[in-house]
Amino acid sequence: MSEYVPTIGLEIHAELKTATKMFCNSKNDADENRPNWNVCPVCLAHPGTLPVINREAVRKVLQVGLALRGTLADYTEFDRKNYFYPDLPKGYQISQYAYPLVSGGELNGVEITRVHLEEDTASSIHSDASVGAGDEASGMTTIDYNRSGVPLMELVTEPVIHSAEEAGAFARELQLLLRYLDTSEANMEKGEMRVEANISVSRTKDGPLGTKVEVKNLNSFRTMERAVVYEIKRQQELLERGEDVVQETRGWNDATGTTFPQRVKEGSADYRYFPDPDLPSLELSSVPEFEAETLKKTMPELPSERRKRYGDLGLKPDDIETYVRDTRLGDFFEEVIKGYSAGAREILLASNYIANDLVKIIRDMQERDSGVQHESPISPQNFKKIIDMASNNKISSRSAKDLIVHSISDKEDPEKIAKDRGLFQISSSADLEGVVLDVINKNPKVVGDYKAGKGPALEFLVGQCMKALRGAANPIVLRDLIRSRIL
Ligand code: MN
Repeated sequence: MSEYVPTIGLEIHAELKTATKMFCNSKNDADENRPNWNVCPVCLAHPGTLPVINREAVRKVLQVGLALRGTLADYTEFDRKNYFYPDLPKGYQISQYAYPLVSGGELNGVEITRVHLEEDTASSIHSDASVGAGDEASGMTTIDYNRSGVPLMELVTEPVIHSAEEAGAFARELQLLLRYLDTSEANMEKGEMRVEANISVSRTKDGPLGTKVEVKNLNSFRTMERAVVYEIKRQQELLERGEDVVQETRGWNDATGTTFPQRVKEGSADYRYFPDPDLPSLELSSVPEFEAETLKKTMPELPSERRKRYGDLGLKPDDIETYVRDTRLGDFFEEVIKGYSAGAREILLASNYIANDLVKIIRDMQERDSGVQHESPISPQNFKKIIDMASNNKISSRSAKDLIVHSISDKEDPEKIAKDRGLFQISSSADLEGVVLDVINKNPKVVGDYKAGKGPALEFLVGQCMKALRGAANPIVLRDLIRSRIL
């Protein structure tokens, strides 16, 4: 019996965040919207120009390699990958073939095959004939060379992924890593990170892999996951009908939610790779700035390290993920808990109020301002004051939540607000005594019930006292006091 097994490998390109392009001094600026502005004879492929390797780009890819625990190359070279396309003026892309900067490695349980460095192509802009009629470019394809020669990192995984969710999780984790390392902005919507999925379905669990299909033009994680799900189903149906899967490159149509054939895939032989004679090969191991020890010194904390640190503090998995993904919030949390010793209950209390209450407040602000990112509207110092009051039972948990809101709206010191608004709990028995005796006298039947062993009756009396005190009593002290006055 057939047991269809989908297998997925990913190829991910990311534009590096460097000051200049890969082989020339033209500015690397993804946000430049004047077409053909950041160009020079090198990235326009004028004859006779010579490329020069961008050190920063090499360093950034090696650092990614370290973070993935891959093997950094001792020796590397750049190759020409020959093909024709209007957005590739040289007729070849400078890439790496036999000697990638990084081999092996792992992320999110997915093995990495290699990570290499290459240059991006220019971008073709297809304008719609029906829009901008009369415009010179209307209905035509124009080319913007601002992107031509931008440093591009290509990461290839082993075919070890078996579901769309797994593929999505890997790509999201890679994006996070690239952002932590400041390698790339990695916005898929802006094409700064581009994911291609190689998908195959085999007929048996341990049998050979099926014929693979490459899906391109995936401009969001969601799209990538949808395309993978669709493609697995399409290939499985072909196999069920006894037909063959054609090895090809397919595009994704977001409107119909389907993939469509684009071209039959070239083998690497068609590109006729050969080492670029204009560029030197590099003995990386003899360059101090590319040594692992040197690279490690400037390496920031990685997402996995941050997760572990928060895990050690005993935070809930959801809270950990919130802080790891939103580092500004994570940094805020760390500011708040500064000074508490490990295992202090204030740490979990702070996390709880930040990951729930504060996150919600910030999210509402962002929604109101149509997505504009907001800093925390309360300082970590003031937030800490609220945590301290709550953990010392000076204010109730309900009041702590209110106080967060009031501190933001009143822009005042939380202690002053708590005092002005009467949020401090009365914790002294002497101050509570009068109300307690009054409630006991007014409720002889309930008191009788409690004496007869009906436990819940006590909660009714606590509730009555709270009502009289408008909630401003420490419930533990209150409960003890009522009990001692009854029995
Ligand atoms: Mn590539």
